Amino acid sequence: MTNEPAQQFSDELSARPPAARSGGLRRENEDLRARLEEAEETLRAIRQGEVDALVVEGPSGEQQVFTLQGAETPYRVLVEEMNEGALLLGADGIILYANARFAQLAGRPLEEIVGADWTGLFAPADQQRLKAMLGVDAAAGVRQETTLQTPGSTRPVDVSLASMRRNGLEGFSVVVTDLAERKAAEEALRASNAKLREMVAELEHFSYSIGHDMRAPLRAMKSFAVILEESCDPSIPAPNRDLIRRISAAATRLDHLIQGSLNYARVVKEELSVEQVDLGKLLAGLLESYPDLLPQKADIRVEGQLPVVLGNEAAITQVFSNLLGNAVKFVAPGVRPVIRIRAEESDTRAQVWVEDNGLGIASESQCRIFEMFQRVHKGYEGTGMGLAIVRKVIERMGGRVGVESEVGKGSSFWVEFRVPMVPPGR
Ligand code: ADP
Repeated sequence: MTNEPAQQFSDELSARPPAARSGGLRRENEDLRARLEEAEETLRAIRQGEVDALVVEGPSGEQQVFTLQGAETPYRVLVEEMNEGALLLGADGIILYANARFAQLAGRPLEEIVGADWTGLFAPADQQRLKAMLGVDAAAGVRQETTLQTPGSTRPVDVSLASMRRNGLEGFSVVVTDLAERKAAEEALRASNAKLREMVAELEHFSYSIGHDMRAPLRAMKSFAVILEESCDPSIPAPNRDLIRRISAAATRLDHLIQGSLNYARVVKEELSVEQVDLGKLLAGLLESYPDLLPQKADIRVEGQLPVVLGNEAAITQVFSNLLGNAVKFVAPGVRPVIRIRAEESDTRAQVWVEDNGLGIASESQCRIFEMFQRVHKGYEGTGMGLAIVRKVIERMGGRVGVESEVGKGSSFWVEFRVPMVPPGR
């Protein structure tokens, strides 16, 4: 390949007279020096990333633009703008390059960082370990949690180092991730967990003491009230006898409330093993064995086939006994309960509906009935704990619970279960 401009230049030179040639050569020389300086300045600017495009004059005066936008700039921007610290180390661990984020993490100016031994920027106790990172085969990358020594303080970081051989440069690339925020969050979480554990232990102690210590005097109170009621002299006026009866009724009610709270505490705490539960079988057994659910008391119809779900059998039994118990309980006086149970299934979930012809629940009360001690219909037996237990049990099995209802038109409670995965091809 011939170099056409150079050939042209030497032809022109030999065609000129000697005097003109020496004056011309000086000018040529000055011109060439100036161009050399300009080229060197351009190269320096490119190396330091100050240039995004070059305008080069072609042999016949046309201007060509060579842009660096496509190649260098994105990398430069990425490294400079990323939220991680980045270092380039020589083979001896001297820092050849650091991005602005690293300088920010280290709390030092870049001039102080570039040219320093990298381990010197970390806590003295970690420096040996970091030095050793250069020794191991770092081609696949090595990583460590360590501590940056910032002036007057320290900062936990994660250091990921990989060996690098490129463009004649042998050394290491290092990415430094700030762990201060994560560590602080972990610390806060640990502290709040410890506090929660303490509170749970206190509550457990409290519920144990309610269950075992307070129920004994309560039962004594109730028994004495019953004895008093039974042994009452007929001459005692009826209002006074009624007061004694009320003491006994209140003691019984308080005992039920305590029992409900203890059941709830047990549901929250106890291990729920998960197995496949055939809801069809479970409900058939339940309808046979609960006196209030027998055909003499209510019409309860299971529509279609009920699915096999994932859950704990004892817990699911408790859920349906609470839902069905409510469905037969909250009806207007003299109305025979009519209840329909049906299911809707998808690949991963099953929703089981318990629909009744009872009193219904006003929309503004529908959310709170799943909370502890919430009761909407006064004059009916209950503690307000049944649906709270239903919700807790269902949520612990990975499901959900809800209700659709209108006052005077009955209620439809639904519970959602996970269903076992069907093996592909079945
Ligand atoms: P309890 O039955 O002991 O009162 P629950 O937690 O089971 O407590 O229910 C909370 C309240 O929700 C009940 O007191 C009642 O007012 C209302 N409720 C629950 N189920 C029904 C239902 N099927 N029909 C109408 N109201 C209901």
